Amino acid sequence: MIERLRQAVASRQQSHRECRRCGTTVESSAATCPVCDSGDIVQYEL
Ligand SMILES: [Zn+2]
Repeated sequence: MIERLRQAVASRQQSHRECRRCGTTVESSAATCPVCDSGDIVQYEL
């Protein structure tokens, strides 16, 4: 799962964003979580 995440991040974006509530990976263009509609998004710079 971690390797899959790294590959996805490396090919698409410089940072990883995920919902702090449910842990879903959120696209950089999205302001809210597509799963739970939370605006509480945490961003990790890589
Ligand atoms: Zn969520």
